[in-house]
Formats: sequence, structure tokens, C-alpha cells
Amino acid sequence: ARAARVLAPLSPGRLADGTPIPLLSNLGSADGAASAVALGAEGVGLFRTEFLFLDAVTAPTVAEQRTEYERMLRAFPGKKVVVRALDAGADKPLAFLNDAREENPALGLRGLRALRASEQILRDQLEALAQADAATDADLWVMAPMVATVEETRYFVALARELGLRTAGVMIEIPAAALLADRILQHADFASIGTNDLTQYTLAADRLLGSVAAFQDPWNPAVLRLVAEVGAAGAALGKPVGVCGEAAADPLLAVVLVGLGATSLSMSASALADVRAVLADFTSAQARLLAELALAAEDAASAREVVTIQAAKFL
Ligand code: PEP
Ligand code: MG
Repeated sequence: ARAARVLAPLSPGRLADGTPIPLLSNLGSADGAASAVALGAEGVGLFRTEFLFLDAVTAPTVAEQRTEYERMLRAFPGKKVVVRALDAGADKPLAFLNDAREENPALGLRGLRALRASEQILRDQLEALAQADAATDADLWVMAPMVATVEETRYFVALARELGLRTAGVMIEIPAAALLADRILQHADFASIGTNDLTQYTLAADRLLGSVAAFQDPWNPAVLRLVAEVGAAGAALGKPVGVCGEAAADPLLAVVLVGLGATSLSMSASALADVRAVLADFTSAQARLLAELALAAEDAASAREVVTIQAAKFL
């Protein structure tokens, strides 16, 4: 009964049948770490590192970066912390890394592509992370943004290992990567789905453009089908599949994402309580059923509607 499922506010993420779904926080700098912990974050699912590079004329030094990474990692002793390598370009342009003359920056030299073209920046960042990792007790995972191919996955994972990082994965935010997740995950320790960009690229609708904002809806069954591909690949290979885009902060969609195979969810800390409460209302079998209903819908609105109606019947 519902009353039996009243949760302690900081209990770990769990489905009604006890399946753990770690609830992690997205962080944009070390400043948010303390409040994320206070709101019950079980770790960090996406540490965006762009803040270190914004407004800079050149990249920060290894020592400067190490200080910031240590400050953040120290807030999460024994906890998983997923740090994303610099994701520059398109909505996050950096003067010293991106070419402002590109006509389509969202389709240009961005994310891992830009890092690869300036590899020393990536090497320095991974070196700083390895040093911070050695000096702290968090469980550090690193991941690459905007990965499109198996070859890029192999490149990033090999470089991370060369620099002494144990756990290396990729973000899945390009449809090609979702479709080949079974092959990509052969070479990575984990995947994390970025639903913001995955939705943008699936619907071919600029995530910053108000006139096409209606397309930017992660309930779209086309997006969910791609998530399902990644979830199935993770399950088949026994590799973790997180979701760290905004979709994970929508409580009912979070249940659907778990039903599609997400093994952890990361969101802004303010969303943790609602997602935690709603996840605890559904079993794994129910989450899978809700996911099937969403996948079978014709569009985002009907997916949302059919899941809302069936979820109410489960309660
Ligand atoms: C995403 O694309 O969903 C994501 C989490 O990364 P960002 O929003 O920083 O692009
Ligand atoms: Mg992204």
C-alpha cells in the first residue's frame, strides 16, 4: 500500500520491488556538491567541466584543474562520480577550441571531436583527473561527450587508461551511437545517455531555438526507442547505462527510462526528491510495461498520456 512506501527523504533510489536505481546529481562546478549531498545525491552522474574553461583565453593548467577536481571529489568519499571531458562547441562554444565560422556548429568540430583536434587539452584534463583521483577516495569515472562511433570510443577509452583512469565510458547523445550501442559498449565500461542532445539530433531541432522547442521532447517514442537500444545493449553486456539529460528529472519519464534499461539516473539535485518518491511506487515489471506503452505510442503527447493513465492504475 502507498502508506507503507513513505520514504525517508534521503533514502537511496529504489523501485517498489527493491531494485536499486542510484540517483545521482548533475553538477556544473564543485560549488553545488554540498547541496547535492544534502539533497541525497548518491554520487555525481554528470560533472560538467566547461566552467573551468569558460571565459579563459587558454586552457587551465593541470594543477589548476586538479585543485577543482579534488575539491569536488572530496565531497563524495566512496561514491561514484562521473566526470565528463570538456564538451566545447555549439551551445557551449570556447574561443580557443572552436571555430566560430562553422555554419552548423552543432554538427561541427565539437565535444570529443574538438578535443581530439587539440589532444593536449584532453591529455591535460585526464592527467589532472588522474592526479585528483589518486589524492581522494571517490570512485571516479570519466566519459567523453558527443561520441558518434566505435572508433572514437576506442580512442577515448585507450587514452583514459593510458593516463591511469580505471573506468572510462561514453555519452550516448548522437543517434548513430545509440544504434550501435551494442558495439560501442564492447569497448567502454559504461554509457550515459544525454537526452538533451539525443533529442535534438533525433528530431533535427536545435535545442536552443525557441521556434522548434516543441520538438525537443524526450517523450518522443523515436528518442525512447534509441534509449531502449542502449538499455538492451547494456543489459546484454552487463554494463551500466545511466541517463543524465533533463529527461531523468521528469519523475514519470524516469520510471519509463528505467523500464527501458537505465540502471542509474542523474539530474539537478532539486529534482531528486520527486524522482525518488515516484520510482518507489513502481516495480521493475511495471516500469517495463510503462516503457512498452510509451514505445508503442505515436508521438510524445500520447506517450505521456498513456503512461500517465496506466501509472495511475498501478497505484
Ligand atoms: C545532454 O546532452 O543531455 C547532456 C546531459 O549534456 P549537455 O546538456 O551538457 O549537452
Ligand atoms: Mg550533451
